[in-house]
Amino acid sequence: MSDETTPATTIDPLDWDYAPSVESTPVDIPAEQGLWIGGEMVAPVSDAGFDSINPATEETLGVLAEADEADVDRAVGVARDAYDDVWGSMPGKERSKYLFRLARLLQERAREFAVLETLDGGKPIREARDFDLPMAAAHFFYYAGWADKLDYAFPGADPKPLGVAGQVIPWNFPMLMLAWKVAPALAAGNTVVLKPAETTSLTALEFARLSAEAGLPEGVLNVITGAGATGAALVTHDDVDKVAFTGSTAVGKRIQEAIAGTGKRVTLELGGKAAHIVFDDAPLDQAIEGVVNGIFFNQGHVCCAGSRLLVQESIHDVFVEKLKERLELLRVGNPLDKNTDIGAINSAAQLDRIKALVAEGETAGGERWQPACDLPEQGFWFPPTLFLGVAQSHRIAQEEIFGPVLSIMTFRTPEEAIEKANNTPYGLSAGVWTNKGSRILWMADRLEAGVVWANTYNQFDPASPFGGYKESGFGREGGRHGLLPYLGGVA
Ligand code: NAD
Repeated sequence: MSDETTPATTIDPLDWDYAPSVESTPVDIPAEQGLWIGGEMVAPVSDAGFDSINPATEETLGVLAEADEADVDRAVGVARDAYDDVWGSMPGKERSKYLFRLARLLQERAREFAVLETLDGGKPIREARDFDLPMAAAHFFYYAGWADKLDYAFPGADPKPLGVAGQVIPWNFPMLMLAWKVAPALAAGNTVVLKPAETTSLTALEFARLSAEAGLPEGVLNVITGAGATGAALVTHDDVDKVAFTGSTAVGKRIQEAIAGTGKRVTLELGGKAAHIVFDDAPLDQAIEGVVNGIFFNQGHVCCAGSRLLVQESIHDVFVEKLKERLELLRVGNPLDKNTDIGAINSAAQLDRIKALVAEGETAGGERWQPACDLPEQGFWFPPTLFLGVAQSHRIAQEEIFGPVLSIMTFRTPEEAIEKANNTPYGLSAGVWTNKGSRILWMADRLEAGVVWANTYNQFDPASPFGGYKESGFGREGGRHGLLPYLGGVA
């Protein structure tokens, strides 16, 4: 198996059911794809492969290569050579030109990438088009601007790249997670071997081809596909200097154990179980929109999803009624339809996990509520779901469901809200709705979360650092902070 020499499948998004609101940009997906190593698609040593599935239709989008240890070794070797010979010593102002070029090309082809992201991952095209792709390009623009200013970013220090970065990313925001990792790594002068998630590798492979269009020197960016074993081989490879992982807390812990004592630098961006706190003085209609966005954006496949609603007891009933009315209006279905609010669940395995936790929530005594909605027969789907009467000890209040499921609890005082919000092993994000500025500051001081949004939710900016506390990981991505994990010689 190798590359574009194999006949390409042309996916015509209009094939679903014709509707003027359905995205119609066609994309070509190679029937078989290789590994991007040294600036070209190469066949994996073992010739092993696996199918990439469209979760909304269960159709096969193509066969991807499964990299084994020999492939990982080859990719890391090529990345090392590119670091030693070209990239590590290239002046920052030269590196920045490549990053600007990558950003511009990504912007130019954003629509096509958005369609690919939606076909591969199941997310609504509106989100891929208006959020994932513009934000990914923005990260390349942002870090392109830092590449020649590292000495100013860290005055008095002597910033130097680390070498080869081994990066492993999840399936919920494939292009954006790539941008969060690849852009700062390259800006800082490191070379990269990236492993995308097994269910969503198509945009990373397309981005690899785009890097050749941008003239990026061969071997500076390598993309290898495969599942957990490929990721494990990459992060434990002796010649990888820096490990950057985004994914579940369970795998993050395994990686930390596997590389303990090796001297590799590591950052872990892991799971979350964010509290979304609504006080009785909040602007309720805006808070409803914020809460809906907080949990149903990207089907709830969001590390910082506001998956635990803490609503002040005095407004519980009215708030829940309004929330139910709003949920009745959400459209679940064809992710390529621009009117769709909730797309497909990313994989059969993820759907099973959501169903199991929801069943467990009911057994534990939670009251499940779902609006009436027709789900497509093919594909992986789950309706927007509320759980009332949830206790803090319930698994649906403690564990990441990573689906469109909101657990609702109440509180009486700000102190009680803080106690409940912090009662989880995670510490990634939180949201607060109130019209009192002093209360926002009081809450933000006490919430154990890397990000606290006030009277809004899910706001991102390349200049703003993102990351966790407790079991949500360590290290920051985004902003000047996002350069630190890729540099030596800085505090
Ligand atoms: P996952 O941990 O199962 O997999 C993530 C990636 O790790 C995949 O590419 C997978 O192939 C790879 N992998 C699996 N086992 C590995 C191993 N032993 N060694 C190295 N790599 C391995 O997570 P997922 O289900 O793909 O993603 C969902 C998780 O990601 C959620 O917990 C979510 O909260 C988290 N996430 C966190 C952030 C953040 O910034 N904190 C952002 C997005 C997603």
